Amino acid sequence: MDYPKTYDVIVIGGGHAGTEAALAAARMGSTTLLLTHNIETLGQMSCNPAIGGIGKSHLVKEVDALGGAMAEATDLGGIQFRVLNARKGPAVRATRAQADRALYRSAIRATLEHQQNLEIFQQAADDLIVEGERVTGVVTNAGVRFRGKTVVITAGTFLGGRIHIGLDSHSGGRAGDAPAIALAERLRELPFRVERLKTGTPPRIDARSVDFSALEEQWGDTPTPVMSYLGARSQHPRQACCWITHTNSATHEVIREGLDRSPMFSGDIEGVGPRYCPSIEDKVHRFADKSSHQIFVEPEGLTTNELYPNGISTSLPFDVQIQLVQSIRGFENAHITRPGYAIEYDFFDPRDLLPSLETKFIQGLYFAGQINGTTGYEEAAAQGLLAGANAALRAQEREAWCPRRDQAYLGVLVDDLITSGTREPYRMFTSRAEYRLLLREDNADLRLTEVGRELGLVSDERWAAFSEKREAIAREERRLRETWVHPKTTQAAAVETKLPKPLAREYSAMDLLRRPELKYADVASLKGEAVVDERVAEQVEIAAKYAGYIDRQRDEIERLQAYEDTPIPADFDYSNVSGLSSEVKQKLGDTRPDTLARASRVPGVTPAAVSLLLIQLKKRG
Ligand code: FAD
Repeated sequence: MDYPKTYDVIVIGGGHAGTEAALAAARMGSTTLLLTHNIETLGQMSCNPAIGGIGKSHLVKEVDALGGAMAEATDLGGIQFRVLNARKGPAVRATRAQADRALYRSAIRATLEHQQNLEIFQQAADDLIVEGERVTGVVTNAGVRFRGKTVVITAGTFLGGRIHIGLDSHSGGRAGDAPAIALAERLRELPFRVERLKTGTPPRIDARSVDFSALEEQWGDTPTPVMSYLGARSQHPRQACCWITHTNSATHEVIREGLDRSPMFSGDIEGVGPRYCPSIEDKVHRFADKSSHQIFVEPEGLTTNELYPNGISTSLPFDVQIQLVQSIRGFENAHITRPGYAIEYDFFDPRDLLPSLETKFIQGLYFAGQINGTTGYEEAAAQGLLAGANAALRAQEREAWCPRRDQAYLGVLVDDLITSGTREPYRMFTSRAEYRLLLREDNADLRLTEVGRELGLVSDERWAAFSEKREAIAREERRLRETWVHPKTTQAAAVETKLPKPLAREYSAMDLLRRPELKYADVASLKGEAVVDERVAEQVEIAAKYAGYIDRQRDEIERLQAYEDTPIPADFDYSNVSGLSSEVKQKLGDTRPDTLARASRVPGVTPAAVSLLLIQLKKRG
């Protein structure tokens, strides 16, 4: 049947990418349909019950700054919060939260169900309606035809999904869920480049069968960090403990003996797995000289006994998994509630995408999340938000929004994917960003909330809170610049205890804050009591301390702006550029970058090649 309504945006898949895509489009005023296999699994974490971490929390906070749901759901579902790299510089600090799976899911579902302009429908999308080079709708497995101006596909690990445990394998999208076979076949008919990747998950363990006295406790930070810019500690549920244990030589022996029945080593799995999240069999094989690997034992929630042993993802046969687990200290009598497994799935070469995440071959069709070769909830959510926003912009006949590398980790993520593609599951790290000091997790709102407001993504409530914070920062900076400290005064004496030498002349409190020995708290009350929020104080302190580095990064961005502003026409013929090696011609032809800056980032493209391109582009005029 033809459904009696046409949508601006149809989103396929209610995982982390799909939920942010649907929410973003609906926030922007577009009529949106979220079509997903199962409403009960909206916002489901397929693997590790945790949000954030190095590089990833930067994405979560960017999604939050643009009005997305992930950070707020984390504050409502987080049962342990920590700041990683807390002693290092602000660029690499990262918030990570252990989440109660059920609380997180219900927070996401509640947000979706309260979102204006958004309708949800439970059924599998099996087919796309494509007219000419344009997508115009989706057909479900029950034959319902939904018409839409744009379609965003966020099918995660479900496309042609195949689950492996030992030498047994079966079709599946994730344990307990059916795969998306028909949609995968339909996409393979379209002119996209498609490959296979794999990922895996550990067995889960019943806490009642664990000897916790043998494990090391690990509590979260106090005061408890908060994920969302609108969040508050008071929203967090009861906080919980995690534990640490280790594999040992007996564990490694069990694994080595089981390798002949491992699908990874037998050749049954062809897809490449995540480099930074390898299976325990891979770790034991690759790092043969290591006699032990750390395992973080994480609760799956406050109302369940299941534990997630982070670090022993495996697809070894179940009988080997039992021996492996029971060889670990504290787990001698452990009962496995769900076996670990690996999953192989289709992903599409992201070099076939535009910076808006629209596909190059089918207009109005967008891809976001694991389908683009990434791994991780945060990477998926960030792409989902961008694709949903751009689908809405297209439906509203507005220009696409494509964040730059110097503006957001979201810009880095998309630029890396579309210029370099990926051969293994791509995850975010701070080291992927060249302008790390500008792209901190603490200032995502200052970088993005204004543009989010212009796009229609940011609510009045968020905008008011943000504007107040921005004004408070400016006010406090002005106050510190106007607070003078004269030598031989009580104010000077107050700071001199921390300085190597007494003050030789007068300084402003802002000048003093630039000194490495002094913190914001040392200068804040030099003249009257400072009454500012801790998040405002943090911004004032970081801006003062890193001003020199930040200015240098800004200068570099300006210097390279000319390349960013030099477009390369879509029909540009690289074979005509004399002097370019055939390898570079082929790489540029495969990627088809849209600007000279992006061409310069294609792996293998040298500065000399960029100069040759520039000359040719100038000739073309
Ligand atoms: P998903 O979260 O997979 O969501 C896809 C959604 O689309 C689902 O709701 C599904 O039902 C729906 N859907 C799919 N096809 C259709 C269709 N045709 N019609 C309707 N609905 C459809 N990430 C890590 O960072 N580290 C890890 O170690 C890790 N291990 C993993 C292990 C396993 C076994 C799995 C399954 C995933 C693992 N992940 C890991 C990946 C992580 O789960 C994903 O990166 C993240 O969930 C991707 O989000 P997504 O929105 O793209 O897709």
